[in-house]
Amino acid sequence: MSDTPHGGEGSGAASLKAPSSALHSPLSAASCWIGLGANLGDASGTLQRAVAALAALPGVWVVSVSSLYRSAPVDAAGPDYWNAVAELGTTLPPLALLHALQAIEGAEGRERPYCNAPRTLDLDVLLYADQRIATPELTVPHPRMAERAFVLLPLAELAPERVSAAQLRAVAGQRIDRVADQAWAGLPA
Ligand code: AMP
Repeated sequence: MSDTPHGGEGSGAASLKAPSSALHSPLSAASCWIGLGANLGDASGTLQRAVAALAALPGVWVVSVSSLYRSAPVDAAGPDYWNAVAELGTTLPPLALLHALQAIEGAEGRERPYCNAPRTLDLDVLLYADQRIATPELTVPHPRMAERAFVLLPLAELAPERVSAAQLRAVAGQRIDRVADQAWAGLPA
């Protein structure tokens, strides 16, 4: 899309090849993009473990991970967030993927004492192929992703065609810093 100022495919992104078993899977695979955030404890270490946990899920492989960002909390108090976006390939259907993400959050001690509370780990399904999903449990595309610089900037690294220049301009006032390139995730280049 010509309305995107960000770099080309794969810029700023670490890659991991799909396992050969996935290439031969009888189930059809979908590309999806996951938002990762954390603002308690060793947040960048938590995100690193989360990427490893995603890669270890059956039926999931990590295609690429964005640079690491640090951002001010939106609509909330508390420490800065650490954020990134991962592109996955998966044979899991959307709801099964959401439940797998919630299990990873739980393993990192995620609690939900109140809305927008600080969190050890937040994993959101941003996009699942081109699907539009509106159920009580899952909404895709993620309903608030277009309001958030900490989603749009890393997503634009991995999938520039999914983020418009107008969307980026709309979040330009939000404080966000790119703090590490793709090597942060510890994936093989
Ligand atoms: P959060 O506090 O941000 O982790 O929100 C989690 C809640 O949002 C859960 O109850 C999910 O069922 C719901 N939800 C709806 N759509 C999504 C989505 N695209 N990704 C993650 N959680 C979602």
